[in-house]
Amino acid sequence: MPSAPAEPWYIVRQSSIHNQGVFAARDVPKGTRIIDYKGHKVTKAESIRRGTAQIEGSAVSGEGAVYIFVLNKKHDIDGNVPWNDARLINHTCEPNCEAQIIRGTIWLIATKDIPEGTELGFNYGFDLETWEDHPCLCRTKSCCGYIVGKEYWPKLKRLVKKRDQVIAAGNAQAEAAVKKTGRKQKKPAGK
Ligand SMILES: [Zn+2]
Repeated sequence: MPSAPAEPWYIVRQSSIHNQGVFAARDVPKGTRIIDYKGHKVTKAESIRRGTAQIEGSAVSGEGAVYIFVLNKKHDIDGNVPWNDARLINHTCEPNCEAQIIRGTIWLIATKDIPEGTELGFNYGFDLETWEDHPCLCRTKSCCGYIVGKEYWPKLKRLVKKRDQVIAAGNAQAEAAVKKTGRKQKKPAGK
């Protein structure tokens, strides 16, 4: 594993995906520990409370803004603090890093060689509970449309199809209702 350089591997700047993002400050070799995910160590009970608040907040703002990371059986990390640059790493359906816990530290590790200037991204791994609240903006070829862990993609596909069918059926019904109303209005007002 490459040793840590004096300068950080990353820089924070404006992203085309969403607000700010984190970018490779130089060529990053596969396997590099790029940045550690900092934050408050909280108990599971506190984590659930904070996570729920973040999910509710992100549902309102339309952002996938949930910063809770599972650390171990007893504790999670709430990374929603300004000194945690890793919280600015955007979700993507085509990641170039992944989170790994190494001796109590959550590291974002390069899963491939990352050329200088490339935006860093990992899969946030959300489950399907609130998928509709978290549309994905990554614009990659393999984008599944929502911020959802890859293991859920097949099930997500079925849910999206079902949802679209319901919308289509709803639209057809609305159209039919409009046509009906239109005919009614065309009827001469009989006296
Ligand atoms: Zn995507």
